[in-house]
Amino acid sequence: MNKAVFLDRDGTINVDVNYLYRIEDFRFIEGMPQFIKKFNDWGYKVIVVTNQAGIARGYYTEKDMNKLHRFINNELKKIGAHIDAFYYCPHHPDITGPCHCRKPESGMILQAINDFNIDVKQSLLFGDKMWDIESAEKCGIKGFLV
Ligand SMILES: [Mg+2]
Repeated sequence: MNKAVFLDRDGTINVDVNYLYRIEDFRFIEGMPQFIKKFNDWGYKVIVVTNQAGIARGYYTEKDMNKLHRFINNELKKIGAHIDAFYYCPHHPDITGPCHCRKPESGMILQAINDFNIDVKQSLLFGDKMWDIESAEKCGIKGFLV
């Protein structure tokens, strides 16, 4: 089994600007690339779980978001770090109805646990909102508010 560190994206990996999708608006929170590299080196899967209601709202597309995620990994590569996978929720309850993936639900984490054979007891999550922590704790993963 694998151990994993789950990371929220906006406000945890990068400075939170509303409905980020433009590469030119992306800025790492200081120290995050090095933080991610530590977990890579320690043998953790590094997995992003992010609510992206901007897709439901039509502010940007999944293609835009994927482009940003490729950019993030290219930046990390410069210091020998990487994110193993990005899971995102493109929904918003007012627009697309309820779903199981939008945090504080834990569909994204459960999917990753299944995809990567994750041991929840050896795993942790960092996020900047209580919904991040709740989403992790529903799966038995210890969550830390940053
Ligand atoms: Mg956040």
